[in-house]
Amino acid sequence: MTKSTLLLFDIDGTLLTSGGAGECALRLGFQEEFGLEENLTQIEISGRTDSGIARQVLAKHGLEPSEENLHRFFEGYLRQLERELPTRPGRLLPGVLPLLNALSALPQVCLGLLTGNLERGAALKLRHYGVHGHFQFGAFADDHHDRNQLGGFALQRAFDLHGVTFEPQRTFVLGDTPHDITCARACGAKAIAVATGSFSPEQLAQHHPDALFADFSNLPAVLRALGQHD
Ligand SMILES: [Mg+2]
Repeated sequence: MTKSTLLLFDIDGTLLTSGGAGECALRLGFQEEFGLEENLTQIEISGRTDSGIARQVLAKHGLEPSEENLHRFFEGYLRQLERELPTRPGRLLPGVLPLLNALSALPQVCLGLLTGNLERGAALKLRHYGVHGHFQFGAFADDHHDRNQLGGFALQRAFDLHGVTFEPQRTFVLGDTPHDITCARACGAKAIAVATGSFSPEQLAQHHPDALFADFSNLPAVLRALGQHD
């Protein structure tokens, strides 16, 4: 069956929480690579890309966002992330596993990632929590440091994979922050907000998503919002 619906998932706060492994890896990786303490105060993390976060941290310490410094930042982070993930009480968020299983069984649905994670960081997290196999492609922090630019990369990869130009009304960005909603608008997609990250339903509602959930545990309601009627 031809694919007709494209779903692009954010990772942190939407699919899973790493139990603090991500932020700890940012701090420890930076310390290991640059020999500098970083407590991540005044650094905006939620909804931002890893490459955007790297630029913020480097600037805070007066370091240039050169290719070499960004490479060192990312390598330190990824090394620490692999170490930290198994030591933290992270988990998939409520309803995520039944939702991914249900969506993966629908032949008309194409699942992808639209995330601020580096591609290798995304793979580490998704493998650790057992859901990597649901996603064949994505757009990542490697593509651009501005999240609002990532939708175009995801749409192009969906086309390359399936030969389909997905209609805007059948393209959904699912995420836990106002930045995910803005990112959906930037590529003409519908925005599905979920309050399992660091923003409340009330805060997310102010940004007018097309649908808003406290979490993904009401599977029939989520499927309806994604245009998948039974
Ligand atoms: Mg998120």
